[in-house]
Amino acid sequence: MIARNGGGYYRSTLLDSLSWLDHGFGTRQQSLAAVRPLAQLKQIHSPSTIEAGSHPGVLGEADGLLTGEAGLFLGVKTADCLPLLLVDPDARAIAAVHAGWRGTVAGIARRAVEHLERRFGSKPSRLLAAIGPGIGPCCFEVGPEVAAQFRDLFPDCAGLDRRTQLDLVEANLRMLEQAGVPRAQVDAGRLCTCCQPGEFHSYRRDGQRAGRMFSVIAIRDTKGAGAIPAPSPKA
Ligand SMILES: [Zn+2]
Repeated sequence: MIARNGGGYYRSTLLDSLSWLDHGFGTRQQSLAAVRPLAQLKQIHSPSTIEAGSHPGVLGEADGLLTGEAGLFLGVKTADCLPLLLVDPDARAIAAVHAGWRGTVAGIARRAVEHLERRFGSKPSRLLAAIGPGIGPCCFEVGPEVAAQFRDLFPDCAGLDRRTQLDLVEANLRMLEQAGVPRAQVDAGRLCTCCQPGEFHSYRRDGQRAGRMFSVIAIRDTKGAGAIPAPSPKA
């Protein structure tokens, strides 16, 4: 379950089962004051991933960041695209991914899993993941030229040569499943950014003037305290 906390973030109850982990999916009300040091990317809707190590700042052009180092937040910016957070509970390695429709088609979720495997020896069958707020099929109608590019992920769907309500969350669940991450280990929020103007920025709704939200994940350092407040009890 993805639940709102009192500090302007949503959190995954699945990822909250790991006490050494801090994370949050940003909203319009989020504060980044305590979220540092922060590593981020110049996001380009690609399948490229970069290992952050312990380096903050803008680390290059890519759409996935990973690290096994404690004390560094990995952040991705979104305003309709999906933020994906991946965790290897055995190796204590993490990844943050920006997945819009282009990155999804290009395979960014699978590439992030493969990079964790290669770098940290992660077993996909052991990974946990959470998918934050993004544009829902309710608000994401695409033309046949876009829909057709999802044929590999939706072989069961007949109508991909017509205008289609695209479900980016389902597409990424299927891609993670193909990469070996069981669906039961993925916490998917299905919160639509376009439907909730008070809560989220949305590029499709607000166009060029849309703001961006940061989703972040970190391995807690030895000081122990997390930067992202826990979900409020009533949420
Ligand atoms: Zn919607």
